[in-house]
Amino acid sequence: MSPRSWPTRTLRAGAVAAAALLTLTACGDGGGEGGDAASFPEDDISMIVPFSAGGPTDTVTRLIAEPMGEALEVQVLVENVEGAGGTVGGAEAAQADPDGYTVLMHHIGMSTAPTLYEDLAYDPQTDFKTVGLVTEVPMTIIARKDFEATDAKDLITYLKENADSVNLAHAGVGSASNLCGLLLQDALGVTFNEVPYDGTGPAMTELVGGQVDLMCDQTTNTSSQIKDGSVKAYAVTTPERVESLSDLPTAQESGLDLEVSVWHGLYVPAETPDDVVAKLTEALQAALKDQTVIDEMAKLGTAPVAEDQATPEAHSAKLKEQTELWAGILPAGG
Ligand code: ASP
Repeated sequence: MSPRSWPTRTLRAGAVAAAALLTLTACGDGGGEGGDAASFPEDDISMIVPFSAGGPTDTVTRLIAEPMGEALEVQVLVENVEGAGGTVGGAEAAQADPDGYTVLMHHIGMSTAPTLYEDLAYDPQTDFKTVGLVTEVPMTIIARKDFEATDAKDLITYLKENADSVNLAHAGVGSASNLCGLLLQDALGVTFNEVPYDGTGPAMTELVGGQVDLMCDQTTNTSSQIKDGSVKAYAVTTPERVESLSDLPTAQESGLDLEVSVWHGLYVPAETPDDVVAKLTEALQAALKDQTVIDEMAKLGTAPVAEDQATPEAHSAKLKEQTELWAGILPAGG
């Protein structure tokens, strides 16, 4: 194999190893191991989405990938590594080289999976460094367009009486839609038939096609289907109504004791040098100020987080607080 045909990852690994050796002998490692922080990035960055393409996590990732790439002067390439409620992609990212070239976009599932899985392959708090929060997205309770219930109050009555025959779609144990489905079943005191997918992109396709009945998912995946009438919407899961879907009542307004929203954040393996993380954080903050990102998120019922939330510190505090919260609410081991 000629040097020209070597995969870029191999070339970079060699360059990184040589640079790391130099750095170690010269002046320390900048807070971690395995990267050349001063020249980072010299190559494209892979951003892992732990769910299917076309779903809400994927949508948010693709929105910020381009402006982050512009800020870093490389391409940020989105890679979907779906399965097991986002834990397959989480495990792959945890084992990646800690050089900043593999970044994980994940969501609230990083705080629920440690409770829901007995044998999670990674510890979200110790196997990763946090880069910053990205956005916090409301969820919507929706059903196939010909579902029997007409409004939220009617839905509550219908679901209580017919739970056995209701098929609830979600993105696997540990996903946000799974979490919202659990909260909904708990609030109603019922059990649905659960139908897991590798992401709510494919779940939405089946809901629109009428193969499943019900789903609770981010507005970043449901807004256009709600607006064009290809699904029926009942409520949002935030304490306040969502501006772009202002006709929809909140779950609380409808008599449903349910409140949840899906926060997203970026992670890198724990040994990634701090100065590499700092460069990624800076690029994230630049992307969140991009007018296209702001406008597109608004159309999808959400907004970038404030700059002081797009930091490793705010993100790691959120992860800790949410992990403790859900550990006290969710059933251990699923
Ligand atoms: N919305 C999904 C979830 O329930 C994941 C996705 O496809 O983005 O976690």
